Amino acid sequence: MFSWTDEAEQVIQAAVGDDLPVAYVCDAATVAAEYDRPGLAGYTSSFLDVLLERSLRAQSRWRGRGHASVIFRNRIKTDAFALGVAAHEAAHHLDVLAELGQPADAIGLPDGDLRALIAEPIPTGCAAVAEHGLEFTRAALHLAFRIQRLPGLGWFGPEFMCIAGSRYGLSSCFAYVDALGDERQERASEPITAILASQPPAAFAAVWESDAATLEGKA
Ligand SMILES: [Zn+2]
Repeated sequence: MFSWTDEAEQVIQAAVGDDLPVAYVCDAATVAAEYDRPGLAGYTSSFLDVLLERSLRAQSRWRGRGHASVIFRNRIKTDAFALGVAAHEAAHHLDVLAELGQPADAIGLPDGDLRALIAEPIPTGCAAVAEHGLEFTRAALHLAFRIQRLPGLGWFGPEFMCIAGSRYGLSSCFAYVDALGDERQERASEPITAILASQPPAAFAAVWESDAATLEGKA
């Protein structure tokens, strides 16, 4: 049976390419209750694939290490926004990979009991801006652009991905799109992690710095 998660997986893999050659998008309804995160629409971590391996094997979906996200489809209005949340989570993974300079299947696992990590709360509140900062936003906008260029997905855009905007106390995602200039078109064939490793356009950094200064002033 074809499901929205199959489609989202294919879209993300096609859009991201070699950075995340294997992607698992898991509807929370298909995984154990211990993976619940009340109030979240979705989440990821660089080793969530390993935590979900048993569940993915039981569904005959395991294809080796890769990017994984859990999406709470029942908390999201439409399939379009569910794809946006899955893409948002993939952008987090790209942000982490660029920072670590390692491929997705080489990310080490934390010490200790992996099962215990499943129950760890995910930080919210002020950490939200820290985790949705300049690099994340840049990765997400590149990903949105690449998704939009796939067949049948011309309707997609960053507004489906919970990027920037008042939820984080930042300028709107479209202000960041404008500030990125032509970077998304000009560097469309490069891995997004390679783009993140380079200096952002000055106008893009300026929007971020202005937002960050405003947030600091309010703190
Ligand atoms: Zn996020």
